[in-house]
Amino acid sequence: MKIAFIGLGNMGLPMALNLARAGHDVTGFDVAGVTSDAFASAASAAEAARGTAVVITMLPNGDILRAVADEVIPAMDQGAVLLDCSTVDVASARDVAERARAARLGALDAPVSGGTGGAEAGTLTFMVGGDADAFETAKPLFEIMGQKAVHCGASGNGQAAKICNNMILGITMIGTCEAFALADKLGLDRQAMFDVVSTSSGQSWSMNTYCPAPGVGPKSPADNDYKPGFAADLMLKDLRLAQQAAEQADADTPLGAAARDLYAAFVDTEDGAGRDFSAMLPRFEGRGRG
Ligand code: NAD
Repeated sequence: MKIAFIGLGNMGLPMALNLARAGHDVTGFDVAGVTSDAFASAASAAEAARGTAVVITMLPNGDILRAVADEVIPAMDQGAVLLDCSTVDVASARDVAERARAARLGALDAPVSGGTGGAEAGTLTFMVGGDADAFETAKPLFEIMGQKAVHCGASGNGQAAKICNNMILGITMIGTCEAFALADKLGLDRQAMFDVVSTSSGQSWSMNTYCPAPGVGPKSPADNDYKPGFAADLMLKDLRLAQQAAEQADADTPLGAAARDLYAAFVDTEDGAGRDFSAMLPRFEGRGRG
């Protein structure tokens, strides 16, 4: 398949490499001038998009996605698919899809979970919104770049699924970390805490799979001095997107808002920038109620 890949950053480059290695005809473009010997490069997003069956974007945010969509949509052949894998706000995803459909293109929003490790290993999970026909076209590409693709319904629903999932993740990670810090102060051993909670009703992915306490549970970023992993900065981005969507949809999300505020303080004014999102535990450890 002839594919354009726009945005060759930490996630996009390994995803594009996997497609090229699987035999697809990939042309890449990134404003930062990133290129690879494994696939062709174009001088602009529009040039990369011309004559392709699928244009994949993996970009930092919704404003950049809108700007790139303005460039590539007029260059694409009718019937081709615009496949955005970035994490962006639901409104931008829906707007770009509408513009693509008006130009007789297929459109999918397909944010991922799995991080840079998943991008390199081709084991990402895709949460996909958009037309069923476009989903069928993109399916073989999802199978190369990932291990699972869930079709969540209409355009924007992929982004909706992503931010709802990550809102739960942010909230449960904070809950797990504050409970560990409380347990410490109550004299409860961390291993005992893990053994009880991971097999009781307080269990979650944050406790059982990604335990924020070093030396307890499966290996996680806590065992590597909280190097990400999933950076607190990216969690904050997703929690902000969740609150933006909640405001637009008039949804009451008090714990999502509290999680956003805590991660904002951690990243913007404490030492959370560049650390894993589970480093909330040492943050709580050092604090009292005052
Ligand atoms: P990144 O900053 O490493 O890469 C983004 C790339 O887009 C950069 O190389 C940048 O130069 C390029 N770019 C910016 N504007 C452009 C334009 N107008 N035209 C072409 N290229 C342009 O970010 P990343 O870590 O690769 O993340 C990409 C997306 O995936 C984000 O939306 C992020 O939220 C999401 N995501 C990231 C992770 C992760 O662990 N890194 C996990 C899940 C989802």
